[in-house]
Amino acid sequence: MFDTSDTIVAIATPVGRAGLGVIRISGTDAQAVAGRILTLRRPLASRRATLTQVRAVAPDEQVTAPRGAHARPALVDQVVATLFPGPRSYTGEDCVEISAHGSPLVLRQIVDVAQDAGARLAEPGEFTLRAFLNGKIDLVQAEAIRDLIDAVTPAQARVAFDQLEGTLTSRIIEVDRALFELVAKLEASLDFPDEGYHFIEADEVGRSLDALQGLVGELLADGHRGRMIREGCQVAIVGRPNVGKSSLFNALAGAERAIVTGTAGTTRDLLTERVDIEGVSVTLVDTAGMREPEGEIEREGVRRSQAAIEVADVVLVVLDGSERLTSEDEEVLERTSRRRRLIVANKVDLAGWRRDGIGNGSQDRFSVSAVAISATTGAGLAELKRALLAVLGVQGAGRDEPMVTNVRHLRLLDRVESALTRARAAATDGLSEELVLADLQVARTELGLVTGQRTPDDLLRHIFSSFCVGK
Ligand code: GDP
Repeated sequence: MFDTSDTIVAIATPVGRAGLGVIRISGTDAQAVAGRILTLRRPLASRRATLTQVRAVAPDEQVTAPRGAHARPALVDQVVATLFPGPRSYTGEDCVEISAHGSPLVLRQIVDVAQDAGARLAEPGEFTLRAFLNGKIDLVQAEAIRDLIDAVTPAQARVAFDQLEGTLTSRIIEVDRALFELVAKLEASLDFPDEGYHFIEADEVGRSLDALQGLVGELLADGHRGRMIREGCQVAIVGRPNVGKSSLFNALAGAERAIVTGTAGTTRDLLTERVDIEGVSVTLVDTAGMREPEGEIEREGVRRSQAAIEVADVVLVVLDGSERLTSEDEEVLERTSRRRRLIVANKVDLAGWRRDGIGNGSQDRFSVSAVAISATTGAGLAELKRALLAVLGVQGAGRDEPMVTNVRHLRLLDRVESALTRARAAATDGLSEELVLADLQVARTELGLVTGQRTPDDLLRHIFSSFCVGK
């Protein structure tokens, strides 16, 4: 089990100089440690910000052996200290937060004196781990805190915040409750076989299982969208040379990154740029011209572009709408035909552009109709972005139900679904209740691992080690 008997300290704010830096102390001795390092006339009042000073701990007062050979300055900094007595604190234990000046040196000195005064340096994620162990938050919320801190787009932050609020947990609890009810009824039937009384009839078992599968199925479907939001998605821009791939890449990226030229085959390497499209983090990949490779470098470029197409969530196939389709275009269309793709008819601003020109009879080869744009004037770009989000299935991201975005959760929910499917099959085949029950127990165990109700120590250790120190 995890040891929570000692008192921990860490800097809670990022490394670097800033106006303020915050140090967090948590544990049964938090008040005592604060009392030793702060020049207080009376003990800290609960939840009241107090202006005070941090001082070095005199050698005879030191709880542990002094760290380092340097003598500490008598006074380290002027600070504001606040006591959050447990259980009404972040960790559920007594917590003292010290807002100091944001100098890395000063913050380190404060951590040092807190250690002299009996605190131990916290491990990564240890504050949040204690919050979890003390029942302040469940595992879904703990992981949401990490995601919220790491979020780079507003949609990611919103999804993480929803999870932190516990809305996702309540969806999972709903499944767990329904599962528990079914398990209880089946067990009761098994426990009293001689009475000839069944607590649940076979068709009710079937109906309950259908309902459960429905709930888990919804969570998983939302989870796919959620994962795209959390992890972002990759979009490869492909097409024959000179159709305007680099120009489109620049227009979407909003910066002159790719080199645009009138000479064919100049983009030899893959350029990537992360852009935020309505809150969804999209990595754009501009591929080298997909034509027959001539030189060694170009061959490498083509190989990489093919690899980028393979891993992309969506491929943007760019065509020059002012020209007839060439055999090279046909080949690109052929090569991407089995991929999720969006066809873009570029150069709508040119006189030769004709909507019906695209395809010239090969219209049936497009799985989606072409979006008309001009990479140079920006016409049609808004529609292209909308179409892109639609193909990715992430429109209106984060605006409705709380979503499962965590791969660990999705994997567990997949297993819950499989166990339910097996239970459903056993029930349909009229197999014994014991067999149905065995699969339902598996489903409950997996579900318990999501929220951390029944989570082994090593898994917890793994999850919390991905936090930074001070969180
Ligand atoms: P890539 O080889 O597919 O990456 O094509 P580039 O982006 O380098 O563009 C090739 C040429 O087409 C350049 O001269 C661009 O200025 C031009 N171009 C790209 N998009 C448009 C467009 O929408 N309208 C017009 N008129 N020219 C464009």
